[in-house]
Amino acid sequence: MARRKIVAGNWKMNGSKESIKQLLSELVVHENADVIVASPALYLDYVQALAPKGILVAAQNVSDQDSGAFTGEISVAMLQDLKVSYSLVGHSERRSLYAEDDAFIAAKVAKLLEAKMTPVLCIGETLAEREAGDTFAVCQSQLQAVIDVVGIDAFSDIVIAYEPVWAIGTGKSATSEQAQEVHADIRQFLANESTVVAEKVQILYGGSVKASNSAELFAQPDIDGALVGGASLVATEFNAIIEAAK
Ligand code: PGA
Repeated sequence: MARRKIVAGNWKMNGSKESIKQLLSELVVHENADVIVASPALYLDYVQALAPKGILVAAQNVSDQDSGAFTGEISVAMLQDLKVSYSLVGHSERRSLYAEDDAFIAAKVAKLLEAKMTPVLCIGETLAEREAGDTFAVCQSQLQAVIDVVGIDAFSDIVIAYEPVWAIGTGKSATSEQAQEVHADIRQFLANESTVVAEKVQILYGGSVKASNSAELFAQPDIDGALVGGASLVATEFNAIIEAAK
């Protein structure tokens, strides 16, 4: 069965009410792919209200706690209250700039799944790890940490985003062959535990995806879409990537 493509935009800490309104008014969605935008938390409700039909809304992060004295945090229940059904988890910027480790990320994934929300679990190696030949091992251990907590079957309800850290925001995308190789390894790793889950799980590529390289990435058998940073802020670019996912 062909897996449905997902084109997800990660706006990171960018935008204003005015720029978001403008961007959303220019996006063109089609029925053949799911389109998700991950907005800064402060604007989630605003984006929900303005997003054209067919655009799904994601948070960029979520707390691993239910409620209480956690200043600055946002809970799964709050996201549900706003009818937000996706959240990124474990983005490399969270891992490196905010010291989020595998156990913390796994706890967030578990919280989202309990609430029937969809985690977009980001994994990927640094340049040093790639150069040391550790790409597969790093991705596998980041996945294993989550499998250990939620189990393999839960991956039917998780979207994976493979994002090599060296390709994020650098303009230096992985080639479609490099990305496919890792996506295939991720799928094989999951297949060792469940072929059903491995066949079903959608694995997005992220890291300098733009209009000009998206079609080639999407043509790879194990690439089921993209998590797009910089180019998701430019309507013409993001629309072209959505179009390429048809
Ligand atoms: P980029 O970011 O497309 O700007 O490289 C991707 C991401 O961080 O999700």
